[in-house]
Amino acid sequence: MGCCDVPGLMPIEDAQEKLLADIQPVSDTLTLPIGDAIGYVLADDICSPLNVPPFDNSAMDGYAVRREDICAQHTLPIAGKSMAGTPFDKVWPKNTCVRIMTGAQIPNGCDAVIMQENAHVTESGVLFNETDLKPMQNIRPVGDDICQEDVVLTKGARLTARDIPMIATLGIANVTVLKKPVVAFFSTGDELQPLGSELGAGQIYDSNRYGIKALIEQFGCEPLDLGIIADNPKQLTETFMHAQQLADVVLTSGGVSVGEADYTKDILGQLGEINFWKLAIKPGKPFAFGTLPQAWFCGLPGNPVSAFITCYVLVQPLLAKLAGHTQWQAPVSIPAITHSSFKKSPGRTDYQRGIYHIENGQVVVESTGNQSSGAFRSMSLANCFVVLERERGRVEVGETVNIELFNASISA
Ligand code: AMP
Ligand code: MG
Repeated sequence: MGCCDVPGLMPIEDAQEKLLADIQPVSDTLTLPIGDAIGYVLADDICSPLNVPPFDNSAMDGYAVRREDICAQHTLPIAGKSMAGTPFDKVWPKNTCVRIMTGAQIPNGCDAVIMQENAHVTESGVLFNETDLKPMQNIRPVGDDICQEDVVLTKGARLTARDIPMIATLGIANVTVLKKPVVAFFSTGDELQPLGSELGAGQIYDSNRYGIKALIEQFGCEPLDLGIIADNPKQLTETFMHAQQLADVVLTSGGVSVGEADYTKDILGQLGEINFWKLAIKPGKPFAFGTLPQAWFCGLPGNPVSAFITCYVLVQPLLAKLAGHTQWQAPVSIPAITHSSFKKSPGRTDYQRGIYHIENGQVVVESTGNQSSGAFRSMSLANCFVVLERERGRVEVGETVNIELFNASISA
């Protein structure tokens, strides 16, 4: 045990390793039109069936010439036109030029295009101001971007808005992708009310379920919302059993701590196996991970900030692996100078919420304020986590801290 290990609390790095250890990516595939495939993971490499561009074409509106003709004389009559989609298809006499537009096919024998700004149309032909021509100037050669059979995207890539036009460029209409893992989720707590209802004494709105659904979607999985379940062991047990038949992962929030109405861990122990359930992370100490007969299980804490952060930090890598997203990358950390102090005691890794910006070329960060695990505003206002190491104590203004930038799942 290290100097700052708290008995019974698993360091976050160990938990992250255990969470991934036995996860196997889904293998079922489906074929989708590329217009519907954003957010899915490629099941196969995408190889280009063609050269891009498929033919030599002009990068400019101007005139296609032979350089040797320009050496001989600076005015050339126009022999015809090559337009985008309608190539020049006549015989091209010596000492003439061809009017050409951007994207139009280069006539055979042409070895330069002169942009129209460097040419004047006269009665006897086109007078060129530019005569010192480089070979192939303003010509985009066949295969300049992509060669036939190049691997353009690899298996395990999750398709983004950048990938869709790339695939379309290759003329590929449909792609084979992995089916998204199904994540069934529900909130537990007698105090929780759905949105749209009136709150009675002691009641609050169930906000976690909405955050969790949004995260599941952002992580590339299929959410299955099983609603709010009361703190009732029988109902909870039934819901657990039902959920694990329908999904690859069951995700709950609340009831995972040591209070009198906290049944999650016991039910997990009865129905399946607990892998771990107490972490050296703040917020989010009570986080249960284990297996049900037919599904993985993650039990998030009830406090809204804890639920959200543990879902992002711990569940996200698990779901990325399950979804077959092999190119998923952990969020990036960078050092920053803090303009706020942060309360902290050694023993747990803190994910405090901050706002960073650049000041005179230096990254600086400030706290978003009230860092209580129940105060979601701190999360909503943030643009980064201030990740304070396990062994660290209180942080004063001016100290260097590591900030973790939000990845695409929770940033704009
Ligand atoms: P628990 O983990 O069930 O003890 O809940 C810890 C705190 O989180 C309590 O203040 C709960 O009222 C609150 N909480 C639990 N579940 C939710 C939820 N789904 N939405 C908002 N707050 C919740
Ligand atoms: Mg509760």
